Amino acid sequence: MRTVITGGAGFIGSHLVEYLLELGDEVVVLDDMSTGAPRNLIDSLVNPRLSIVHGSVLDRDAVMATVRGADRVFHLAAAVGVKLIVEQPLTSLRTNIHGTENVLDACVEHGATLLLVSTSEIYGKNTADKLHEDSDRILGSPLKSRWTYAAAKGIDEAFAHAYWTEYGLDVAIVRLFNTVGPRQTGRYGMVVPNLVGQALRGEPLTVYGDGNQTRCFSYVGDIVPALVRIVEEPTAYGNAFNLGGAEEVSIIDLARRIIDVTGSKSSVTFVSYSDAYAAGFEDMRRRVPDNSRAYGLVGFVPATPLDEIIRRVAEEMLTSRSLEHEAISSPH
Ligand code: UDP
Repeated sequence: MRTVITGGAGFIGSHLVEYLLELGDEVVVLDDMSTGAPRNLIDSLVNPRLSIVHGSVLDRDAVMATVRGADRVFHLAAAVGVKLIVEQPLTSLRTNIHGTENVLDACVEHGATLLLVSTSEIYGKNTADKLHEDSDRILGSPLKSRWTYAAAKGIDEAFAHAYWTEYGLDVAIVRLFNTVGPRQTGRYGMVVPNLVGQALRGEPLTVYGDGNQTRCFSYVGDIVPALVRIVEEPTAYGNAFNLGGAEEVSIIDLARRIIDVTGSKSSVTFVSYSDAYAAGFEDMRRRVPDNSRAYGLVGFVPATPLDEIIRRVAEEMLTSRSLEHEAISSPH
């Protein structure tokens, strides 16, 4: 199997590379190394079945050339992270819309199957008890740059569905809910690596807002096999699947548990949203997945408990020296 992974040098992409190399695939990574980094692939680089193309999904020729001869494509390249999308809304819009269109065209042109990685952000401010794939989207103003990502990813999904409808492209969509694990950087605002880094350095943990907003964190090691199983199921094509964690936790409780699990002496400090983010930020109060569709299709279960996830993130930070330069240590 020849597999292309756009964004394969990123956090989730690099775990997917390892998994597919173990399965015996020939893997081609297309990555512009803007938020990803070759060091994420350090253990895979020795494998002769891995090749890396340094290029952007915005470069149509590079995308076409890379996808030629591929059986399947996992499209993970995206501008992600609340900090990045608030500060660079154009990058968020262009990469996430035009880049995806290039990937869709290349898959049609070369007959490759596609897994489009989307996001729970598309549900926006919907605080339903469990977000189902058909749940409504409640998005804020397009003039608030936080919504560029949700808007762009929603367009990506609509594009994918239209390519399936009109061109018969074999494309499945997954919506990831706060996937975390080793190698995720806190640089673009992600809360788990950010707070774990602070806890390990003995700095105060920065909880934004009142800390009562909730998320369901899932472990990258549970998500990656599900991505592969879903793209191998023809009944998945034309459909979207939630993949998220089982436990709903408030951010203040998350901070306390990080302090507990890491044995840190850090305190918690509350930071107002206006101090934490550039103008244009709105938070999501609650985001809980209904995973039953992915469970029904491929038996997806987010098995790794939150404390174990925290422990693995901390362990990796301590061993990789990423502590020195990764997490955001103070409001910006
Ligand atoms: N958050 C926080 N402190 C941080 C980074 C994030 O309290 O240092 C909050 C953020 O405001 C949000 C939650 O943690 O309520 C999750 O943020 P993240 O950016 O990881 O993911 P998303 O908002 O996209 O779910």
